[in-house]
Amino acid sequence: MSEPLLEVKRLKTYFPIKKGLLNRTTGYVKAVDDVSITIRPGETFGLVGESGSGKSTVGRTIVRLTDKTDGQVLFKGADLHALSPQDIRRIRPRLQLIFQDPYSSLNPRIRIGDAIGEALLDHGLSDAGNVRDQVKEILEACGLSVAHIDRFPHEFSGGQRQRIGIARALVLNPDLIIADEPVSALDVSIQAQIINLFKRQQQQRGLSYLFISHDLSVVEHLCNRIGVMYLGSMVETASRDDLFRNPLHPYTKALLSAVPLPIPKLKRERIVLQGDIPSPVNPPAGCKFHTRCPWAQEVCSQQVPEYRNAGSDHWVACHLV
Ligand code: SF4
Repeated sequence: MSEPLLEVKRLKTYFPIKKGLLNRTTGYVKAVDDVSITIRPGETFGLVGESGSGKSTVGRTIVRLTDKTDGQVLFKGADLHALSPQDIRRIRPRLQLIFQDPYSSLNPRIRIGDAIGEALLDHGLSDAGNVRDQVKEILEACGLSVAHIDRFPHEFSGGQRQRIGIARALVLNPDLIIADEPVSALDVSIQAQIINLFKRQQQQRGLSYLFISHDLSVVEHLCNRIGVMYLGSMVETASRDDLFRNPLHPYTKALLSAVPLPIPKLKRERIVLQGDIPSPVNPPAGCKFHTRCPWAQEVCSQQVPEYRNAGSDHWVACHLV
């Protein structure tokens, strides 16, 4: 088995809550609480969970947009949170982040050709004589017309803007792309086109992805392994086939019950969870899911379930498994 490209080990990201005149820390929002992920070259890891589960904070902490509280993030063996700013800058092209709304990361006054090319120039990966040709090449690879190179971001549709976001990441020739809800804001037909673009680029470039989504049906088409997060913690991790065929955690079962089956006549029993996800400021004791779990027992509110391997590298945190 090849060496891991990315290893996230027992990552914790807590945000302090400050109160009073003295701005004292009175508690913490435990956005990410003991999360581990391994991604090997060419693999796609899907990270799923409801809004507020902490999955986006995992992505932001990996690329150091947010500081970690504890744990380690190893990229090609290098501890990202221990690197100097110069070393981080050197490694940055290899590790790219794509956002849900690429429009917010595009300067409305900069033409898209310049927006894509500036990263190449900034990192010394091109020069004034070649950058335009490199940008044209990546525009074509991402299904965009080279005739649009001098257009401004507002002249593109949502799907085209996401292609621009992908082109901006790909032009740096990264090893890993962290894509945070990259298709959530798009129509279903456009979603399929963008997912196919991700797949095609992976096949051509041997890329790895950390694909963050609230939607299991989206990650199903792209991911080798899937991790399910609830309230900052990983509750289940397995290969895609294992997770879809044999989900073990009640939260995963509930998420999967909402995924439509390919044959409309077949129906899964729908598990509707009661209530909203609790606040990460004051999470429930014991199993964090016990306030919404249809199968909760007395022990569930008293003891934190151990996150353990249930066989075949299928990990789960539930007292019933
Ligand atoms: Fe439900 Fe208990 Fe399992 Fe938590 S530990 S998921 S509450 S059965």
